[in-house]
Amino acid sequence: MNISNIEPFVITHKLDTPFYFSQWQYDTRKICIVKITLEDGTYGWGEGYGPAGVIKSGIEFLKPFLLDKKALEHEVLWQEMYRRSMDYARSGTLQAAISAIDVALWDIKGKIFGQPVSVMLGGIKNPIIQPYATGLYFTREGDLEQKLVEEALLYKSQEFKATKMKVGLGIETDVKYVAAIRKAIGPDMKLMIDSNHAYSYKEAIELARKVEKYDISWFEEPVSPEDYEGYRRLRDNTSIPIAGGECEYLKFGFRRLFENECVDIAQPDICATGGLTEAKRIAALAQAYNKDVVPHSWGTWIAISAAVHFVGNLDQNPGRMYNELPTMELDRTENALRDEVTKHQIPISKGLLQVPQLPGLGVEVDMDALEKYLDKE
Ligand SMILES: [Mg+2]
Repeated sequence: MNISNIEPFVITHKLDTPFYFSQWQYDTRKICIVKITLEDGTYGWGEGYGPAGVIKSGIEFLKPFLLDKKALEHEVLWQEMYRRSMDYARSGTLQAAISAIDVALWDIKGKIFGQPVSVMLGGIKNPIIQPYATGLYFTREGDLEQKLVEEALLYKSQEFKATKMKVGLGIETDVKYVAAIRKAIGPDMKLMIDSNHAYSYKEAIELARKVEKYDISWFEEPVSPEDYEGYRRLRDNTSIPIAGGECEYLKFGFRRLFENECVDIAQPDICATGGLTEAKRIAALAQAYNKDVVPHSWGTWIAISAAVHFVGNLDQNPGRMYNELPTMELDRTENALRDEVTKHQIPISKGLLQVPQLPGLGVEVDMDALEKYLDKE
């Protein structure tokens, strides 16, 4: 069962409605996915999170070290890729290339054994996941407050029990939109805020104190990912739980977050932080530091499915007879690549995801759609 080919693809789609957050505007979605094929024709799909062209180059850099190697020995391959990247890119986009390859190898492993990835990870501890709806970005058309309220009510009508909104437009503006959304959705739906590291500590603590009364379930990336001290001070001085980690890579990045007491909730992105192999190690580290794990996810159903299988296998921390359902991010923004290029067999009903029982990730790529959205530049 040796690897015979590794093919990265960059797919792209121009959005009908551009949207922005605290850092920049999205008018195009661009994603790198990878297909790994074995000598017998078995194949698996993976995905990297981050700049798609750079991830594609990273996969091409790693490819020669993996061809003709045994696909089932994914930890051996992971170690080889990590060792090859260590001198140049101990964190960052090359790790997303490793992640894409690792996820594809887990898909292959599941297909070879005829089992879902979550079973290959050790078993399905959480068959039902209650994802939160990610959206509530900013648009330049029309009345923004009205658009945010309508979108939040849409998620409520779709029976999502939690949603996450963007902040980072300035404290008074943020407070106004948080208040409007909380008023619209009522007290029973969870609401999280995410500034994408828009603020200094001084600004973040001011915003946190002003929105505490709106029952915020977490404040995500409040300050720079480099500001471990700011994270710790904020966590000490607000009642809102602090979340972060989508900019951290490997267990070593998360160790820094945990040792510095930065977060209550760790948010590894499986398609950036080292793949399922490393995410499982990060989950063990988080458990040892008594932190919750809620994966970040932003991409096609390859990335979403990797997160579903990961959360399906997560230990309850600490666990009890009647646990709350575990959660993960589910991006609800416009994304034709997610909706058309990848087909999936993960049922969503009443705002709940079921861990799929099909072999591998349970995702198939529509090759015609792939060709349609292939980035030909
Ligand atoms: Mg975020």
